[in-house]
Amino acid sequence: METTGLEIVRTVAALRDQVGEWRRDGQTVALVPTMGALHEGHLSLMRQGHEICDRVCATIFVNPKQFAPSEDFETYPRGEGEDVAKLIAEGVDLLFAPDVSVMYPDNFATTVSVTGVSDGLCGAARPGFFDGVATVVSKLLLQALPDVAIFGEKDYQQLLVIRQAAQDLNIPVDVVGGPTVREADGLALSSRNAYLNEAERQQAAAIIDALGTAAANIATRRGTAKGEIAAAVQKLNDAGFTNIDYLELCDAETLVPVDDVTRPARLLVAAWLGETRLIDNIAVVATTQTK
Ligand code: AMP
Repeated sequence: METTGLEIVRTVAALRDQVGEWRRDGQTVALVPTMGALHEGHLSLMRQGHEICDRVCATIFVNPKQFAPSEDFETYPRGEGEDVAKLIAEGVDLLFAPDVSVMYPDNFATTVSVTGVSDGLCGAARPGFFDGVATVVSKLLLQALPDVAIFGEKDYQQLLVIRQAAQDLNIPVDVVGGPTVREADGLALSSRNAYLNEAERQQAAAIIDALGTAAANIATRRGTAKGEIAAAVQKLNDAGFTNIDYLELCDAETLVPVDDVTRPARLLVAAWLGETRLIDNIAVVATTQTK
């Protein structure tokens, strides 16, 4: 097989053959699962893959199991041609882009369900979502058997759910996080940002503004978690957010809600601008108290 250029495979056998061949040759392989509509956030993970491994394999699969019937599975942005051009420009070695029938044949009957880290936040707001994610990602990890799998911190709870599933199922893959890539005004890149109209796009920057201020005040103990969260919620409401699914301070490892930062914590939010649900999060690590 070619040693340069992007190879596109659509079957599990072809994916396994190629990754297996590289690993037998002593090359390390990073897997970067995505749902396509690739942007700089995804591409930063491909670059991270190149930094830590010899080969990078991207996957593109819009996973029906992680969308509720009322959600945007049908309208989710898709464009393999453009995605392939971006992967080629990034020097990605392999793309696995299976059909739904390859991932979920008619007699498919197994669900991977993680408890604990998946219970709150998006798990509470979107019942069944993390079962869909854990099931598809467990399959992708077992199908490819890479050395490393890379996921964005943008979806922080998802990263922890996948790490838990890989650990519990003894999947021999190192699950690694990559930092959130943002627009100039701080909005986290997301394929769903394409749904925002011009006015909503302006309003959306309030998310990182609200999170950043609250995180800084909590970290330095200029304000209590409770007070800062209330102020952040107010800011989002004032900016025109129509609904807030959650805005919570949680332990960075367990995602149990906390009201102080004696250990590393994370401030996480999911909020709606009209029809579009945006999520974001930021680290909160206590610093020496300032006066
Ligand atoms: P998605 O295609 O939205 O399922 O995302 C695929 C992967 O890209 C996931 O691991 C996401 O966390 C990651 N990702 C999405 N947006 C960003 C971003 N703005 N910065 C870094 N990683 C991201």
